[in-house]
Amino acid sequence: MSSETAETGTTTPERDEDEEPESALQTARRQLSRAAAHLDIDSNVVERLKHPAGVHRVAVPLERDDGSLDVFTGYRAQHDSVRGPFKGGLRFHPGVTEDECIGLGMWMTWKCAVMDLPFGGAKGGVVVDPKSLSEGEKERLTRRFAQELRDVIGPKRDIPAPDMGTDAQTMSWFMDAYSMQEGETIPGVVTGKPPVVGGSYGREEAPGRSVAIVTREAIDYYDMEIDDVTVAVQGFGSVGANAARLLDDWGADIVAISDVNGAVYDPDGIDTRDVPTHEEEPEAVTKYADDLIPNEELLELDVDVLIPAAVGNVITEDNAGDVQADLVVEGANGPTTFAADSILEERGVPVIPDILANAGGVTVSYFEWLQDINRRSWSLERVNEELESEMLDAWAAVRAEVEERDVTWRDAAYVVALSRIAESHEKRGLWP
Ligand code: GLU
Repeated sequence: MSSETAETGTTTPERDEDEEPESALQTARRQLSRAAAHLDIDSNVVERLKHPAGVHRVAVPLERDDGSLDVFTGYRAQHDSVRGPFKGGLRFHPGVTEDECIGLGMWMTWKCAVMDLPFGGAKGGVVVDPKSLSEGEKERLTRRFAQELRDVIGPKRDIPAPDMGTDAQTMSWFMDAYSMQEGETIPGVVTGKPPVVGGSYGREEAPGRSVAIVTREAIDYYDMEIDDVTVAVQGFGSVGANAARLLDDWGADIVAISDVNGAVYDPDGIDTRDVPTHEEEPEAVTKYADDLIPNEELLELDVDVLIPAAVGNVITEDNAGDVQADLVVEGANGPTTFAADSILEERGVPVIPDILANAGGVTVSYFEWLQDINRRSWSLERVNEELESEMLDAWAAVRAEVEERDVTWRDAAYVVALSRIAESHEKRGLWP
């Protein structure tokens, strides 16, 4: 398969030609087996969780602006729904594969369970470079994709959301296409919409906010003072920029940030509110900077906290030994490969996993879904207060497992998630 690239276009570091980069599915399965070993759960349940409940592959024909036709491939991988409807994002990205969707869908199952949300996990996407589409083409592609998935999604069945290459506007078109076919407005079919059509205040900022909250708690746990810490953040999109800005507001020194073209490093600290986010102005981090360092170098800076918040598979066995940060907080989904995780563990570098750190996104998606179903909007203050409280509960549950079992933060988060999921499977049983 192709190496996992993303929104910002960063690629995996150089590898041997015959060596395939680890896929999200491989990583997710390995993490599951490892975490299951800590728990006394039915091995049949674990076996079942290694497989998605279903994977839908569709052809998405698109009439281009010049009248020609292109047919794109779209996927929706639905992993597990024992705790509630499938939930997870849709990507528009050239690197989307079936296996990637399954792996990322598995992570959504754990993420929802760590947060104790009544959802299962799914992920989908279209194999397309969104930068190659005009606004009109993007809209037509999204509407047709929504139509192709209509039978397998729905507010009680499977609720998509934004992910790499998609945003609030994409979700708005998606909701409209679904609603037009159903003959009524159904805002709860997707989350991450603009507030004017049933989106939630604070949703866009939420993954970055949760990364910041968890980083603040981890800083405290490891007896550091937020005013004294230096932070490097890879990626300045909705996760990285919002996390960086909040940590900056709370007193941390953000010394490095990056986009697809490279990174800016200033040991005296960067004023993160002065730099436009990827959404505000793509690639603005490097556009106005004089001196750049490569993205790979950002990962190896001697900082207190490293937040990879751009793409998957950036910390690999090739560079894990060179990471100098004292703490890694995963903003992106799957930035650390399974092998790199073991190296960091051996070196005593704690890694706060994605399924906890960036779970603010799906948590506020849950709030959005509640607001849609009840036709009642919450204030930004209420969203942020409830998010803070949900994050602190999840943090406390994971911390308790770290302390009790003396395991890594990732294993502890899996233990919390897996016990909840396995218990639901055991209680519900297998039918027929
Ligand atoms: N795509 C986001 C994630 O990876 C959000 C999913 C959602 O809100 O359903 O967590």
